[in-house]
Amino acid sequence: MSDLQGPQFYPWHTGPRKLVLRQHRQGKLAHALLLCGQANLGKSDFAGALAHLLLCRAPVADAACGHCPGCDLLKAGTHPDLRVVQPEESSRQIKIDQIRDLIDWSGHTAQRNGWKVAIIHPAEAMNNATANALLKRLEEPAGRSLFMLVTHQPSRLLPTIRSRCQRLEFAVPNATEVIGWLQERLPTVQNLGLLLSIAGGEPLTVVNQFSADYLQRRQVLMQTLAALLCGQLTPAQALARVTADEPAVVLKLWLDLLTDCLKWNGSKTDKYIKNKDMSEEINVICSELDGDQLFQLMDRLMQEQRQLGSTSNPNPQLLLEALLVSMQQRRLQLIL
Ligand SMILES: [Zn+2]
Repeated sequence: MSDLQGPQFYPWHTGPRKLVLRQHRQGKLAHALLLCGQANLGKSDFAGALAHLLLCRAPVADAACGHCPGCDLLKAGTHPDLRVVQPEESSRQIKIDQIRDLIDWSGHTAQRNGWKVAIIHPAEAMNNATANALLKRLEEPAGRSLFMLVTHQPSRLLPTIRSRCQRLEFAVPNATEVIGWLQERLPTVQNLGLLLSIAGGEPLTVVNQFSADYLQRRQVLMQTLAALLCGQLTPAQALARVTADEPAVVLKLWLDLLTDCLKWNGSKTDKYIKNKDMSEEINVICSELDGDQLFQLMDRLMQEQRQLGSTSNPNPQLLLEALLVSMQQRRLQLIL
């Protein structure tokens, strides 16, 4: 949030950006905004960009100028009128003391004589007691203050919190809206449309999470799953092929492919399929497993995914090995 250029509004933020800027110009900006929508759409960047705009002394064309005293403090991460509240390291929750501290801070007049802006991210990291502490402040907003709550799981917030905020929805953009933007950032990368589809339409996932050899590795992983399920590979051979990859990545890709298999089974069209280049693997798997078996297998993979996410996980590689053996056993049971 404090890099040299500062946080930014992205091209697919146009709807919510226009709305809040119009309200701001009319002096009608809400005291609390709830930024909702799928993860990885840049909602917290939006919150940061709006905070910078409000705290900049001389905004240019609806963006922070980048070099006034306010912007200098923002770049240094020391602006006294901006607070960002997130779970502290080693915790998944925002603690009540963090919110009490925030409320105390918000009760004082802005030091730079303008706005006071607070960003809470992710808002669902507040438990009920913490959220209730915040609620009082949202009910009695002070002066020119703005609270922005960022979440991709609004249903996990207290209804009373949701009802105190103006809701800003961030939709997954159409491919045509973002391909140009992706091409500018990744000029040497081929298949951006395919990558965007694999990323569930999240442009920031394409930019930040896919390595240069992503498509190549993905192909190996997907082919391995299909070959294992139709008995062309033993678990040991399959493991050797996937051992260079993070088990979490392997599981995610396999679940994606099996989800596509289910969709293919149901509709026999690739319209709803994410991995559109994997029709061969999808066909192979669908000829081996029926819908029930696909569900069972996905259940098992999701169990492993949860285990991987738990802190007590002993050894991801062992876990993957056990999974492959059990998939093979299950396959043999199906045949016999
Ligand atoms: Zn400025």
